[in-house]
Amino acid sequence: MEKTYIMLKPDAHKRELMGEIISRIERKGYNITNMKMMHLTAKTLKEHYAHLIDKPFYPELEEFMMSGPVVGMVVEGEGVVLGMRNLMGPTKWWDALAGTIRGDFSNANDLSANLIHGSDSVEKANEEIARFFPEGEVTI
Ligand code: UDP
Ligand code: MG
Repeated sequence: MEKTYIMLKPDAHKRELMGEIISRIERKGYNITNMKMMHLTAKTLKEHYAHLIDKPFYPELEEFMMSGPVVGMVVEGEGVVLGMRNLMGPTKWWDALAGTIRGDFSNANDLSANLIHGSDSVEKANEEIARFFPEGEVTI
């Protein structure tokens, strides 16, 4: 089954929208198969956002992503990579339609604060799942 890496950003925690967002993922019919709250380091963020390091907004993005906890998830389902991108809506809130997570809940001046990350390809999903869940499933 196809998998994607989803991450609730610090604004989702701060605004108490984690439950709402997780609920939308569940109601869509996707299966959350792993979940973890984390505090990210600059090193991990430079790997995760390697494609953006040279952008002028990168320092703000890194600071924002370290401003509070994130929740990483592995989400499974048929066509889930594209499906989750559709559920999220596009990067910038003014492009995101009502009914999407970003369209319904984000309008911050800080463009970093758009609530949720989702992998943009199956290949990236596998890379990101390996980065954030190197331990796999945990039994204690
Ligand atoms: N971002 C930003 N300013 C921009 C573009 C992106 O702060 O002009 C942030 C935003 O948090 C976005 C993240 O960088 O979600 C990653 O950018 P990407 O283009 O990969 O967008 P996404 O895949 O998250 O929609
Ligand atoms: Mg992206």
